Amino acid sequence: MGKSTLVNRLCQSREAIVHDQPGVTRDRTYQDAFWGNREFKVVDTGGLVFDDDSEFLPEIRAQADLAMAEAALALIIVDGQEGITAADEEIAQWLRTRDCKTLLAVNKCESPEQGLAMAAEFWRLGLGQPFPVSAIHGAGTGDLLDRVIDLLPPKENEDENDEPIQLAIVGRPNVGKSSLLNSICGESRAIVSPVRGTTRDTIDTNLVRHGQYWKLIDTAGIRRRRSVNYGPEFFGINRSFKAIERSDVCTLVIDATDGVTEQDQRLAGRIEDQGRACVVVINKWDAIEKDSHTMVSMEKEFRSKLYFLDWAKMLFASALTGQRVDSIFALASLAVEQHRRRVSTSVVNEVLNEAISWRSPPTTRGGRQGRLYYGTQVASRPPSFTLFVNDPKLFGDTYRRYIERQIREGLGFEGTPMKLFWRGKQQRDAEKDLARQQTNNLY
Ligand code: GDP
Repeated sequence: MGKSTLVNRLCQSREAIVHDQPGVTRDRTYQDAFWGNREFKVVDTGGLVFDDDSEFLPEIRAQADLAMAEAALALIIVDGQEGITAADEEIAQWLRTRDCKTLLAVNKCESPEQGLAMAAEFWRLGLGQPFPVSAIHGAGTGDLLDRVIDLLPPKENEDENDEPIQLAIVGRPNVGKSSLLNSICGESRAIVSPVRGTTRDTIDTNLVRHGQYWKLIDTAGIRRRRSVNYGPEFFGINRSFKAIERSDVCTLVIDATDGVTEQDQRLAGRIEDQGRACVVVINKWDAIEKDSHTMVSMEKEFRSKLYFLDWAKMLFASALTGQRVDSIFALASLAVEQHRRRVSTSVVNEVLNEAISWRSPPTTRGGRQGRLYYGTQVASRPPSFTLFVNDPKLFGDTYRRYIERQIREGLGFEGTPMKLFWRGKQQRDAEKDLARQQTNNLY
């Protein structure tokens, strides 16, 4: 059915696609998944085999039964290209006797036009609304996940909001990371020293701001280790990279008196590559001689050097005076909210249709015109979209950037990077062939 592919897709795992072989017992596997701001576990069973006299059959059923007993929701996956099979009917009948909410995913609905029609047939199973999806392309999985979230029981302690947001404070040595941390915490918990190259260890700090728990990942002390003879300007960029990886949102601290350096650009590039939300903090604002134009012109100059973070808010602050330091949390909060946000397929397509109406996709000299059929959000953290087109080669960088800008204009997503995947028909056909081949190999 493509069950493992769909599980991997829902859990965002980058593992190779695993193929189940009917009749082979596998233990249940558990994987973490999240959508929007909800986390849940996906339990992958060995599959239900009803029309098989495999000697493992009782074990496979027992595994599925166990998984159902502890689950809040059972997701049934059927093959849309094959249509309803006798096995589907048997499974449906079996499910209707179980005391568990169910959701029906009709896989292999690669074509947006035919997908709905293909899925509609499955109403007959009596398991409620069938959701057309393509595990391989990701189409429809966003809408399916929306429904999953709707059907899950309410979060315990929802109003306590007790899952901390991981916030990494990253930047070159001496930009004022420890000073910011001190200003935030209101105490000298990190030792600041004007001596360049001071050694300290990294410590995470837990605190509450704006009714939200935060864990601050402090990389302030990473510039040098005692026993290693690094130069005083040694910059532990790999530790910064690790902090970025652990974070939900990064504050990239830049020294206003130095401007944006190459090292700042490397950190910024990493934040965008890793798909993390970000707030750019221009520190030491007190030390700048300024008139009423300074902030605007400085922001313009800094942004031109940090163009790959053009979606991030920039804050001019001073750890020394405390000016705007508290705003870091307000901006980080908004960025995290956007990072986790999801929008329905219909809204995405409203924006795309609008964008195409204003500016048609490019045409080659040979007269071939790019066609953008539709788009769908396939993941959050960061928000990721697949755009289905006739041929990605017809969409140059300029048009791709235009579409990204239109999505941002229409849907917001300020403070978070976005990923767009352009998928062509040829690619889809090749994938379909591969999937078909792999399925055939199983039998
Ligand atoms: P870190 O290496 O990024 O943790 O930087 P520190 O917090 O140790 O700060 C390096 C130096 O910059 C120290 O001398 C601080 O006093 C100074 N500094 C930090 N923040 C500010 C600020 O907002 N304004 C001014 N004028 N100096 C600052």
